[in-house]
Amino acid sequence: MNASTHALTDPAPSRLWIKDPLAVFTANGLDARGGLVVADGRISELVPAGGAPAQPCQEVFDAGRHVLLPGLVNTHHHFYQTLTRAWAPVADAPLFPWLKNLYPVWARLTPEDLELAVEVALAELLLSGCTTAADHHYLFPAGLQEAIDVEVAVVRRMGMRATLTRGSMSLGEDDGGLPPRSTVQRADAILADSERVIRAYHEPGDGALVQIALAPCSPFSVTTEIMAESAALAERHDVRLHTHLAETLDEEEFCRQRFGLRTVDYLESVGWLGDRTWLGHGIHFDGAEIARLGAAGTAVAHCPTSNMRLASGTARVLELEDAGVPVGLGVDGSASNDASNMILEARQALYLQRLRYGAQVPVERALGWATRGSAAALGRSDLGQLAPGLQADLALFTLDELRFSGSHDPLAALLLCGADRADRVMVGGRWRVVDGAIPGLDVPALAARHSAAARRLVAGA
Ligand SMILES: [Zn+2]
Repeated sequence: MNASTHALTDPAPSRLWIKDPLAVFTANGLDARGGLVVADGRISELVPAGGAPAQPCQEVFDAGRHVLLPGLVNTHHHFYQTLTRAWAPVADAPLFPWLKNLYPVWARLTPEDLELAVEVALAELLLSGCTTAADHHYLFPAGLQEAIDVEVAVVRRMGMRATLTRGSMSLGEDDGGLPPRSTVQRADAILADSERVIRAYHEPGDGALVQIALAPCSPFSVTTEIMAESAALAERHDVRLHTHLAETLDEEEFCRQRFGLRTVDYLESVGWLGDRTWLGHGIHFDGAEIARLGAAGTAVAHCPTSNMRLASGTARVLELEDAGVPVGLGVDGSASNDASNMILEARQALYLQRLRYGAQVPVERALGWATRGSAAALGRSDLGQLAPGLQADLALFTLDELRFSGSHDPLAALLLCGADRADRVMVGGRWRVVDGAIPGLDVPALAARHSAAARRLVAGA
């Protein structure tokens, strides 16, 4: 049903030395200035400055033009929203009216639309240096009950890693929620499908390509019953939990009025205040709430572009991290970013957090959120750093474009000059981006089909 199936690139040779990069960020202080060795899909050793691999390598990739990073990890997205980017009726709206205008459009989403949207989002992410992406999918209108199955198929075809969340909405307008009736499901249908997709697709442990998490959408679109029962189901199957929380002051007011609670109290009341949970946004917390989240090990997906686009507020990222909260980055859905570019998101995070805390926030800290922090938010200790034994998920950028001319520190140049495209990306030892392109993917053809689907969706045809 899709013409752009990708020929998988050849498997890496048994030992590949990615040699002497122009600069390297390991996310952990280890020395890999001489590069690293990839074997059997993992990083087998780091090579210090001026060094050579301990064992012979059958192949050498000269990385003298490349800045080497761990593959970037995206912790919050809504892939389907690539079909409603820059839509005029919500181009200037804050969250609640933005959602209310978009829900009826999204309610028309078909499996074919979703497949195109996922492929576009993953291709954008991959080309920006992202190797693992979380998607929060909470739309299951009539005809789209198998949305997660559609997503899994595209992820596998692209050869990336993903945490696909079985999202949900169960609190319709007529019950005091925000979404229209046509977009919400009954609790028993949500829980049965959640269990089905966990059993069908969740890979536990190191090296997983597809993981499933459970993700009731937000306090104003699900019942407390779904929150509590999703937490119990996640515990039974040892999968993670995700939701939007503390994104806007409107949401905080909703929680006060409906539950008589602030957001973190609400989270605790439904059994979610723990280290299984990562939260989208996490902006409007007070100091005591930040301390409670840190003590619980609850993670936050910081989404700076979306937060600026919708004027939602500025997350207190340094205070969250200092309190012990794992913080990762998310591009958020493409109706509120409206791009899916992880390296640009690291730049946005750096600048937004400098605006809050001052110009001393280092470039490396932002790169840390996009890699190690994001991996921690998704519960992945096998990703997000360059270290022996970890998965060989790598992003390599060149500084050949005009925007980098005259730059001095290659690592700083990535963010300060605005790198937006990786030259090479490896997932589990296989090259998925070569010379700035995805082998086998016809981008113009994909964009043409996707754009046509987007026009049909908005027109309601
Ligand atoms: Zn979101």
